[in-house]
Amino acid sequence: MDKPYYRPRRLRINETIRSMVRETRLSPSNLVFPLFVCPGEQVRKEITAMPGNYNLSIDQIVEECRKVRSLGIPAILLFGLPPSKDEAGSGAYADDGIVQQAVRAIKSAVSGLVVIADVCLCEYTSHGHCGEIREGDVDNDATLLLLSKTALSYARAGADIIAPSDMMDGRVRAIRQTLDESHFETISILSYAAKYASGFYGPFREAADSAPKFGDRRSYQMDPANQREAIREVALDIEEGADMVMVKPAMPYLDVIYRVKTEFDHPVAAYQVSGEYAALVAAQRNGWLEKDRTILESLTCIKRAGADVIITYFAKEAAQLLG
Ligand SMILES: [Zn+2]
Repeated sequence: MDKPYYRPRRLRINETIRSMVRETRLSPSNLVFPLFVCPGEQVRKEITAMPGNYNLSIDQIVEECRKVRSLGIPAILLFGLPPSKDEAGSGAYADDGIVQQAVRAIKSAVSGLVVIADVCLCEYTSHGHCGEIREGDVDNDATLLLLSKTALSYARAGADIIAPSDMMDGRVRAIRQTLDESHFETISILSYAAKYASGFYGPFREAADSAPKFGDRRSYQMDPANQREAIREVALDIEEGADMVMVKPAMPYLDVIYRVKTEFDHPVAAYQVSGEYAALVAAQRNGWLEKDRTILESLTCIKRAGADVIITYFAKEAAQLLG
């Protein structure tokens, strides 16, 4: 008689058994929904390349946050479109800036929702770069001061977590010091630690009106070809005081998420970015992909790779599907 052999299909024989041995479970508590606040009242302007996502005025964003919370999603990531821009990006750190106003309104209206404030200057500068320009490029150390001022101003408005996305060297340390000096030592930092110079950010630039007016961001964001460099970036941010570290984008960078998860003990976030969302939605709308199935599969796989927190424009749909 032949020796018995292992048959993997035995554990796939029905859904009950498959569910017993399932290794990765997605939950609404893993998800973060990005939102874009804009000036005005009753504004709900759909972003062309990101169907189902909007620029929302404060009254509308508060409503949206109520919905998000009722679906069991614990957090939003907030971006701002200021009424006007200037060279120094002063709208980012103005006490009555668009994000500051929105954070106050959301925190007082929606209890229990965690507000993560993205910290960068590109939405606020007239040139569209993520920092102060000197001699044709972003000046790293001059930018740190502006980022710290912005982070402090978001903390004062009531943000729970500060998320610097600029990719300047030393910004986590600068922000941590500034927050601690003002007794905001309990505010967490979620750093965009491994943020790549990616073509998948295309639709976001319309959403946040943040396209650079000259050049590109390759002198501060990472080269998509590099993996070991991501480990150096993450190690630095952790050393500087980051509480959580992010890899961005997500699906084309699952190997990076996996390595960050296995080499460090810190919680890992991954950002399924606008272009990933747009590509999936376009194919779903054409009937080329099954919508619900590909939403959940894409998010489950990002979690399987090692993400504890997933920032995604599918958060509301996924939370509904997960019940
Ligand atoms: Zn930026």
